[in-house]
Amino acid sequence: MEKTFRDRPDNIDETGVRKWLKVRQPQGKWYRRRTLVSTLLLFFFILAPIVTINGHPFMRLDVLNRQFYLFGQIVYSQDTNIMALVMASVVVFIVLFTAVFGRIWCGWACPHTVFMEGLYRRIEYLFHGNYRNKEREVSLPMRILKYALYYIVTLFFTNVFILWFTGLDYLLEIWNSPIEEYWQVYGAMFAVSIFYFWIYAYLREGVCTMFCPYGRMQGVLLDKKSITVAYDYKRGEPRGSKEAGDCINCGACIKVCPTGIDIKNGSQLECVNCTSCIDECNSVMTRIGKPENLIRFTSQYQLETGKSSIKNYRTLGYVLVLSALLITLIIAISKRTEVDTSLLRMPGTLYQEVSADTLSNMYQLKIINKTPEFKDIEIKLLEPEEGSFFLSDHPVELKASNNFSGIIIIKLAKSAIVKRSTKVKIGAFENGKMIDSASASFVGPNQKK
Ligand code: SF4
Ligand code: SF4
Repeated sequence: MEKTFRDRPDNIDETGVRKWLKVRQPQGKWYRRRTLVSTLLLFFFILAPIVTINGHPFMRLDVLNRQFYLFGQIVYSQDTNIMALVMASVVVFIVLFTAVFGRIWCGWACPHTVFMEGLYRRIEYLFHGNYRNKEREVSLPMRILKYALYYIVTLFFTNVFILWFTGLDYLLEIWNSPIEEYWQVYGAMFAVSIFYFWIYAYLREGVCTMFCPYGRMQGVLLDKKSITVAYDYKRGEPRGSKEAGDCINCGACIKVCPTGIDIKNGSQLECVNCTSCIDECNSVMTRIGKPENLIRFTSQYQLETGKSSIKNYRTLGYVLVLSALLITLIIAISKRTEVDTSLLRMPGTLYQEVSADTLSNMYQLKIINKTPEFKDIEIKLLEPEEGSFFLSDHPVELKASNNFSGIIIIKLAKSAIVKRSTKVKIGAFENGKMIDSASASFVGPNQKK
């Protein structure tokens, strides 16, 4: 029985053996745009942990010290609200963006595609030619040189990857120290570089077609209105001759496809929306004197109805949700405090009679130091002013990135309690300046009218 594109990926033959794809180098405006984007992203990857703003890296993941640098601001692992907002924004961005614009991420910004198409494929073209005409014969020494180049590039980017966690100074210190002193780091560096070498020298498109979980989610993320790279079957069919539809079935769009698929079969899981087939088909159309964009960015809905699928309330709603999240994130980062104070009434306790005219409540006080500095924190009762408190470890001494947890007893005169529940507020002060505050309720007896 003849194989269809649904039976198996195009890079696997009928016996289950991998077919090595010799992907023709595309030429055209989309390829030039993609080259520009991948070059910018590669520079961003290298420079983001090196460039500093106010003495802080623009971006860095300092996992050892449980702190992260985002746009030059320090965010600590204790900043749970900010971390949650960052994660929510990323998830919402990926999900919403995919629903509206399809897999643009895959073809344009995914690190695997950026490295594969922006670097390794170009090294391949250097040695083998661009597969447009006859494949260049490559001798064994040249093959070894090609793989050596692959490995050097991999090793360089493995170090850039480590840089995101260590920072430049620490990485330079590692490089300038004897190997035995940092053998674990060198061991990890070697293991990671070999793994990535295997991915880019051997696995290649298999990452997208077989392993990528994001690719697997397309079935639920995309719908008929999602914009994807699509073949205009209404214009192209029946294909095969200049007199019929516009598609002459030349197969050029398959030859440039990095995953080896035929876009004329419709939207497929293996398509990473790289746009190579758009460029290639456009050159064919120009050669045969037909209008460009037989393959283009469009949606199934638009192909069927001719109506735009982007200007609608769904897109507007998605944009609003994402904008709200990003604005909240910016506000949260700009308003983050150096310490995080919380005051919680001890569960299961009521008020205690301290004396004939004074009541007390017991609370759990938690203070999180979110800075890399020592903090000497004085607690003051702000509301009601006439109250007092007892805290055995006072003032609170907090080491860098450390937490304090203790019992605080707040006492109020009965005359100050006018309701069953009275608001109490404490302030955390450093050098006389309030750096955070927390509130809770003070429970007293039922008030008789
Ligand atoms: S490149 Fe264009 S004309 Fe050629 S087979 Fe693909 S869609 Fe048809
Ligand atoms: S079908 Fe076209 S857009 Fe999709 S991966 Fe292949 S070349 Fe890229």
